[in-house]
Amino acid sequence: MIWYTFCYIVYYKDMYCSTCKTTENLCPSPYARYKTKSYYICRGCNTRNQRAKRARYKALVYDHYGRKCNCCGETEILFLSVDHVNNDGNTHKHRSGQRVLGAALYGQIVSSGYPDSYQILCMNCNYGKHKNSGVCPHEANGL
Ligand SMILES: [Zn+2]
Ligand SMILES: [Zn+2]
Ligand SMILES: [Zn+2]
Repeated sequence: MIWYTFCYIVYYKDMYCSTCKTTENLCPSPYARYKTKSYYICRGCNTRNQRAKRARYKALVYDHYGRKCNCCGETEILFLSVDHVNNDGNTHKHRSGQRVLGAALYGQIVSSGYPDSYQILCMNCNYGKHKNSGVCPHEANGL
C-alpha cells in the first residue's frame, strides 16, 4: 500500500502527534517502525494527510495521461475519469472482490509506472464504450 489506510488507535505513553502535537487518538504513522516519538500521528492529521496524498496522486495521474477525454476531447475535469483501455477493469480486484477504484486506483497507477493500459475518458465516452461492447459510439460512428 502506498498510503496508510488504517489508523489503529493506540495509546502510547509520552507520545504525541508529530503534526499537531495532540496526545489523543494517536496511531503509528507509516514510519512507526522507527519507533521514535515524532513518528506518531493523530487520527485527524492522518485523515488530512491521506486526503492530501490522494489529491496528489490524482493530479499525477491526470498530469501523465492528460486532462482531457482521450476520445472526444472533453476537458471538464469533473466529467473525466480513469478508464481501462482494454476493458479489463474487472480483473483489477481487491481480495474483497471489489474493483480497484478512485483513490486506490490512482495510487496503483502511479506505483506501477503509469501503464499504457489506462487512459482518461469522460463519463459519456466511458459509459458509451461499456454499453457499446468496448468501443465508444463516437469511434464506432467515425468521429
Ligand atoms: Zn495531529
Ligand atoms: Zn469523451
Ligand atoms: Zn467518445
